[in-house]
Amino acid sequence: LILIVHGGAGKRKPPRKSLGIISECVSHGYGLLKAGASALDAVVEAIKVLEDSGAFNAGSGGNLQWDGTRRLDASVMEGKSLRAGSVVGIERIKNPISAARILMDFPHIMMTNRGAAKIARAFGLDPLPEVDERTLKGLERNKKRERTMMKLYTEIFSTVGAVALDGGENLAAGTSTGGISAMLPGRVGDSPVIGAGVYAENGLGAISCTGMGESILRLALAKEICMNLAIMPASRAVRFSLKRLLGIGGSAGVIVIDSKARKVLMQTTDYMASGYADKSGIRVGEKGIAVGK
Ligand code: ASP
Repeated sequence: LILIVHGGAGKRKPPRKSLGIISECVSHGYGLLKAGASALDAVVEAIKVLEDSGAFNAGSGGNLQWDGTRRLDASVMEGKSLRAGSVVGIERIKNPISAARILMDFPHIMMTNRGAAKIARAFGLDPLPEVDERTLKGLERNKKRERTMMKLYTEIFSTVGAVALDGGENLAAGTSTGGISAMLPGRVGDSPVIGAGVYAENGLGAISCTGMGESILRLALAKEICMNLAIMPASRAVRFSLKRLLGIGGSAGVIVIDSKARKVLMQTTDYMASGYADKSGIRVGEKGIAVGK
């Protein structure tokens, strides 16, 4: 049994509070695995804790787009059947990861904004609280800092994700995000794209990514890593792809469990808030293994 979660990779040192929440989240999710929950359920429940905390760029803490609206992305995938679900730019739904989970059982696996929200509401998912004044003011500040816009765009990430391995040797992966602060309405990053921000296949591995979405999309990073797990050890596969990502000017952090229960937490950025639980206990840290050019 293994559960790994991340709370985003970037230049900013994760606040101690966020690491505390990651620790709670990992212990909750691992407890579920120990009680017999599937990897898929552990991933969804762990991500819900992070979405509800408001401390990360997901769910209640999701970044606002340029027009002051939260349009959230999430995806989830199960390694056994390759079932997946994904919501893109969903509004006013508290747990986008649960909406993605619902779509796993649908003939459509990827839905946007209104269509996605309609299904989520029909399944009784809770609404997202209104955006408060303080958050709106923060957005206005970010919008004014033209020179730092590029920084927001490339360096400060706090998307959340989880990967798990259950007692039946099934793998699952999930990712949930508010995108990048002050991004243009309509922009979509890697997080809801199966194969970019998330991928899981039993016998190979489970992967969740964070970082500069555009670069992750261009490499289809999660799927690339997953396929390479067939021919190289997990840490080599991740390093190989992260170097390729650096080569196109990208940046990212990745968490992986492979089919031999090896864990990899690696990033090209200074930090990646992350934690894991396995039979050796719980570990939480402000970064995984660093990869440079
Ligand atoms: N990957 C996310 C995106 O580009 C951002 C993040 O990881 O925080 O939307």
